[in-house]
Amino acid sequence: MKKQYDFVVVGSGLYGAVFAQQMKEAGQSVLVLESRKHIGGNCYSEDHEDTGINVHRYGTHIFHTNDQRTWDYINRFTEFNHYRHGVLTTYQKRVYTMPINLGTINSFYNTSLVPSEVDAFLSSKKGTIQRPKNLEEQAIKLVGEDLYRAFIRGYTLKQWQRDPKELPASIITRLPVRNSYDASYFSDRYQGIPLHGYTPIFERMLDGVDIELGVDFFDDVEHWRSRAGHLVYTGPIDRYFKFQHGKLNWRSVRFETELLDEADFQGTSVMNYADEDIPYTRIHEPQHLHPERRQSTQPGTVVMREYSYNNEKAPYYPVNSPEDKERFALYQALARKDEGVTFGGRLAEYKYYDMHQVIASALARVRALNRQ
Ligand code: UDP
Repeated sequence: MKKQYDFVVVGSGLYGAVFAQQMKEAGQSVLVLESRKHIGGNCYSEDHEDTGINVHRYGTHIFHTNDQRTWDYINRFTEFNHYRHGVLTTYQKRVYTMPINLGTINSFYNTSLVPSEVDAFLSSKKGTIQRPKNLEEQAIKLVGEDLYRAFIRGYTLKQWQRDPKELPASIITRLPVRNSYDASYFSDRYQGIPLHGYTPIFERMLDGVDIELGVDFFDDVEHWRSRAGHLVYTGPIDRYFKFQHGKLNWRSVRFETELLDEADFQGTSVMNYADEDIPYTRIHEPQHLHPERRQSTQPGTVVMREYSYNNEKAPYYPVNSPEDKERFALYQALARKDEGVTFGGRLAEYKYYDMHQVIASALARVRALNRQ
């Protein structure tokens, strides 16, 4: 007889790992299935062989939250450094601050505006959009036509492979716009990068939990379900329901990673490329995420060029077009009927979650199940 578990968790990303950790701590038996050869989902990080630079293999992950409970929770598994995220963007061979702030505006227009002048200055460029229906309208309402065309349109087109008119306004509201020189990407109270990268967090969370790596749940759904008191599914929700309401749109990314024989390639952790004719969206240089580690003797630097593409087999970001929203609602209705299964995380909830939101979602779900 194969071992029975109180919970079988499909996916060892943040949702699955937090859920498993909490249930293990409550004395429940948990099995985690992971189709990749490693735990941690897209948070996975590893030290680069030649340089020791910690590389986030699926793109730069910055932890940030205002939520005390989430911060206290994650700090049980790691210490954080004091990194504060800042992004620059290159447009027509000039470098600007991103998110758009007073520095971006003054450099772009060759002005020396002060904060109190910004709204009046931009208002003539914003047009009369009251209720933005899509990303383009939202962006023009926020920063006006010129800045939209320079810094948002090309980048978004490359990133989402869609016209910004077809994308939801909510995507761009992730980005603040500032009338000051504040260049911080996030304004949360708690921010940082785990001192030793993300993978040790997952190792600690999953310590004492049974894990099967390289196992695709879909190869034998009935088998895994039969071994679970309760199933926790963190993969794409459309796949779970055999695409019966059609496929949801997902965006994927791939990285070209290179070791360069120089101390510092770009002087910052993330450089965006706004021009439409540059094929990558951004270049990551992970050594800059760990200012506390940097040594002048470090042999070379690692850079990762990020390219966006559509690949339903490697879903990273929900596109959330209006059709997607309708489709997702149908899948959600099916999920609600499937008692005994929890659908959680970015892929199963079809939500553009940040890490802190995934943790909060998993903790809330565990609390709800424990109350039942
Ligand atoms: N964005 C943009 N230009 C930039 C950076 C971001 O137009 O230089 C827009 C773009 O539509 C993107 C969204 O803002 O999808 C959110 O960006 P964020 O950096 O939060 O994306 P993530 O890091 O999650 O991929």
